[in-house]
Amino acid sequence: MKNIRIAIDGPSGAGKSTIAKYAAKKLGFHYVDTGALYRGIGHFFTSRSLEITQDTIDQYLNEIGIEVFYDADGQRIRLNGKDVTSEIRTGAAGMAAAKVAAFPEVREKLLDLQRSVAEKFSVVMDGRDIGTTVLPNAEIKIYLTASAEDRAQRRYLELIQKGEATTLEQVLHDVKQRDHDDMHRAVSPLRQAEDAYRIDTTGFTLEQAEERVIDYISGRLSDVL
Ligand code: C5P
Repeated sequence: MKNIRIAIDGPSGAGKSTIAKYAAKKLGFHYVDTGALYRGIGHFFTSRSLEITQDTIDQYLNEIGIEVFYDADGQRIRLNGKDVTSEIRTGAAGMAAAKVAAFPEVREKLLDLQRSVAEKFSVVMDGRDIGTTVLPNAEIKIYLTASAEDRAQRRYLELIQKGEATTLEQVLHDVKQRDHDDMHRAVSPLRQAEDAYRIDTTGFTLEQAEERVIDYISGRLSDVL
């Protein structure tokens, strides 16, 4: 049977990763969190207290080794041999990820890695440019979004649960900043692919959002299998 590729794109905090992970589990596909790759590269710079500029990108990018592997709990990320899967889940790593993601060399470096996972397995891959750039021929494409306020509220609760000291205002500010950066960068900006199905989860519970996504995928799967 051929591998099936499901692309889920959208702004940060729309529930992409939770929903994509859930869908992958239900389908028995591999879940690919591409944001984690950008976070891994961002982490390389922040953990060395290096500013992210064209100069530091030119100087260090070749030294950065990013690997994706899977264990019983799902996807893990190795940065130069060290497992950084948990360390990269902070707000700071997210901001650093958005910064490195604006450099075409960084995107280019991660392109083959993302495509190679989709060649090996059937995948649910989430990100910003999966349906437009990474897997333009994906069998199923979803653009998952929600209002900035809804997304900030969810992200805020997530960060607080992890013990990060932050405020809702700060998180909303970061969400808006990240939307702006993601949508306005010159290379692979966040946008809905023409053939992607848009799902707006504003006001939805997580369960309702999961159900909408699964319903759509189920309806489409019989066409693409
Ligand atoms: O999804 P997550 O919040 O982990 O992504 C972190 C950042 O990585 C995003 O804000 C975005 O700038 C960048 N990213 C990207 N392309 C992707 C996935 C993430 O530019 N496919």
